[in-house]
Amino acid sequence: MAVLGIDLGGTKTAGIVFHDGEIVERYRATTDITSSETVMAGIVEACSRLLEASESRGLEVTSIGLGIAGFIDFERGVVTDAPNHPLHEAPVRDVLQDAFHLPAIVDNDANVAALAEARLGAGKGCRYLIHLTLGTGIGGGIIVDGEVYRGAQGAGAELGHMIIDENGPICNCGARGCLEALVSGVAIYKRVEELSWTKKHSPMLDEFRADPLAFRAEAVERHATDGDEFALSILRTAGKHLGVGIASLINIFNPDAVTLSGGLLGCFQFMEEEMRMTVDGMAIPISRRHVRILTSTLGDDGGTLGAAILASSQG
Ligand SMILES: [Zn+2]
Repeated sequence: MAVLGIDLGGTKTAGIVFHDGEIVERYRATTDITSSETVMAGIVEACSRLLEASESRGLEVTSIGLGIAGFIDFERGVVTDAPNHPLHEAPVRDVLQDAFHLPAIVDNDANVAALAEARLGAGKGCRYLIHLTLGTGIGGGIIVDGEVYRGAQGAGAELGHMIIDENGPICNCGARGCLEALVSGVAIYKRVEELSWTKKHSPMLDEFRADPLAFRAEAVERHATDGDEFALSILRTAGKHLGVGIASLINIFNPDAVTLSGGLLGCFQFMEEEMRMTVDGMAIPISRRHVRILTSTLGDDGGTLGAAILASSQG
C-alpha cells in the first residue's frame, strides 16, 4: 500500500509516493498561479503523474494528502484563503476525490511539516512539538499528544502572527509586530531597505541601493559571513525576536521540542546565539530545561512527507 503526499507552494508544487516508510517516487513542477483553475490543474497533474508512476511499480495508492500554504477549513477540505496563490473557497478535497476516486485530506503546509518533524524528523518521537517554517513568511504547526492541533475552525497555529511587539512594523495580516513582520525573509528585506535610506555605507547596503529589486533576503547571509556589520546586526535582532516568540511558545505549550525549517535557516547561524540567550532569559525554567530547539533534518521533504503521513492516517 502506498500514499501520495503533495506540497503546494506559491512557486513550486512537489509530490511524492510514500511506501513502506520510504519515498519511492518524486514529482516537482512550477506552480502556475494564473488562476484558481491553473492551480487546481497543477495539483491534479501532480497526482496523475504520481499515480501512473505507482502503477508502473505495481503499487496501489490508497489515499492522497495535500499540504497548502493558506487557511484551510480542515473538516470540509476547503482552502478558505491563501496568501501566495489565488485559491479562495476552493473545495480541493472534493475535486481530488472526484478526479481519482480516492480519499483525500487537505491541511495547512506548516501543520503537515510539524507532523513530519514529530514522526520522522528532528523531533522524532516527540508527543509535544512546535514547528516554525522560516521563509518569505513564517508558518507554524503544533503537535499535541502526537496529533496536529488545528483549533475550532482549522485556522489555529498561525504562529507567524503571534504578536511580539504591538508597536512594531505592520504585518501582511494587518496587525503590528507579528513574528512574521520581524523575522521573515520579507521582514529582513524591509530592514535592509530602511537602512539603505540612511547615509550609512556597507557592502550590503551599497548592493541593495544598486538594484533593490534584485536584492534577496538570502544575500544578507553572504554579507553576514563577510562580516558586514549591518547584516550581522539585522540578523542578531531577528534572532532576538525569534527568541521572544519561542520563549512564549515554550511557556504556553511546555513542548518536548521546537523545530525550525525553511529558506531562512541559511541565516540561522547568525541568529542562533541571540535566540538562545533570549529563550534562556524569558522561558519558564522547568520548560526551558526540558525543551530542545532543533533545526529540521527533513529539508525540502518536510511538506510532502507530512502530507503523506496525514494521508496514511486515513487510508
Ligand atoms: Zn501578522
